[in-house]
Amino acid sequence: MSQARVLVVVETVAGEARPAALELFGAGRPLADRLGGDLVALVAGSGVQAVAGLAGELGADRVLVADDPALAEPVVARVARAVETALAAADPELVLLPATTLGRDLAPLLAGRFRAAHLVNCTRIELEDQAVVATRPVYQDKLLTTVRAPRGRRIFITARSGAFPVPEPQPGRQVSIEPLAVSFTEADQAVTVTRLVEKPKGQTNLESAPVVVVGGRGVGSAENFRLVEELAAAIDGAVGCTRAVSDLGWRPHYEQIGQTGKNVRPKLYLGVGVSGAVQHTVGMRGSDTIVVINRDPNAPLVKMADFAIIGDLFDIVPRLTKRLREVRG
Ligand code: FAD
Repeated sequence: MSQARVLVVVETVAGEARPAALELFGAGRPLADRLGGDLVALVAGSGVQAVAGLAGELGADRVLVADDPALAEPVVARVARAVETALAAADPELVLLPATTLGRDLAPLLAGRFRAAHLVNCTRIELEDQAVVATRPVYQDKLLTTVRAPRGRRIFITARSGAFPVPEPQPGRQVSIEPLAVSFTEADQAVTVTRLVEKPKGQTNLESAPVVVVGGRGVGSAENFRLVEELAAAIDGAVGCTRAVSDLGWRPHYEQIGQTGKNVRPKLYLGVGVSGAVQHTVGMRGSDTIVVINRDPNAPLVKMADFAIIGDLFDIVPRLTKRLREVRG
C-alpha cells in the first residue's frame, strides 16, 4: 500500500451510495494516479458493506468503512466526525466530497476546522506542481471561473453532480477494506432527524416540465394551494413554489424555485401571488413566456412578465381554471 493521496467521501442513504458520490471516483482516480499514491474511500453510513465492495470495484485502493447506526441519518456533525477519523487514518492531500446538500455542509465545516482551502462545486480539477486548479460555474452557469489552492496543505473539494463520469466497475480488484471505528461526542448526537420527506414517485419533474405553475405567499395557506394544483392540472403543469412558501411549510422544499431551490426554464411559467424577488427570479427568468397573477401592479414579477392579470387571485384562479378546462375539453 502506498501513501494515501486522495480521499473520497462516499455519502450513503439507507445503505446505498448517492449517485453523486460514485462520480467522485471518476474525479479521484486520475488525481491519485498523477500524485502517485492511493485513492482511499470513506464509506459512511449504516449497513453499507455492499457499498464498500462497490468502492473497490470503482477504483479505490483502500476502503475505510464507518458502518454505525449513528450514521444512518444524514446528520452533518456525525458524518464530519467519521471524515475526521478517516483523515487521521489516511492523511490524504486532497479530500473530495459530492456537492450534495450534505456535502455542501460538510466541506466548509471541515475546511474551517482544519483551516484548509475549500474549492467549491468543481466541474474540473487539475494538478500543477504548486497548486490545485479547478473550474467552477458561477452566476447560474453563465460564467466559468478558475480557482486555485496552493498545495502543501490539505484541500477540500466538492465536485458538482454530473461533472465526472462514474468509472466502469472492475469486479475482483484487489482492495483493502478496513472497518473504521468512529467515536461520537455528546454534541454530535444532539441533532437528530425527525422526518425525511420522500419525493412522491410519478410526480412531474419540475426542472423539465414545459409548464410550471408557481404559488407564492399570496396564496395564503397550504390548503389554498388546492387552487394552484387545480390550475396546474388543467394545463398539465408541474407545481412550484417560492421560498416564503416552503419556509412556511405550505409546500415541500423540493418544489422551491430560485437561488436556493431549483432552476426552471419552462415554455410557460405562471406565477400566482408571487412578488418576484431577485432570489426567486434567478431560478425562472429563462422561461419562454411568463404570466403572473397579482393584485399589486408594481410587483417586480408583474414588470418582468409577458402577460399580467392584475387582481385578486381568489377571484381569478378559479375562473381561469374553469375556462381552461372548458377550452381543453
Ligand atoms: P411575497 O414577497 O410576500 O409576495 C407575495 C405576493 O403575493 C405579493 O406580490 C402580493 O401582492 C401578492 N398577493 C398577496 N395576496 C394576493 C391576492 N389575494 N391576489 C393576488 N396577489 C396577491 N425566494 C425564492 O422564491 N426562492 C429562493 O430560492 C430564495 N432564496 C433566497 C436566498 C436568500 C439568501 C434570501 C435572503 C432569500 C431567498 N428567497 C428566495 C426569498 C426571497 O427574497 C423572497 O422573500 C421570496 O421569494 C418571496 O416569496 P413570495 O413572492 O411568495 O412572497
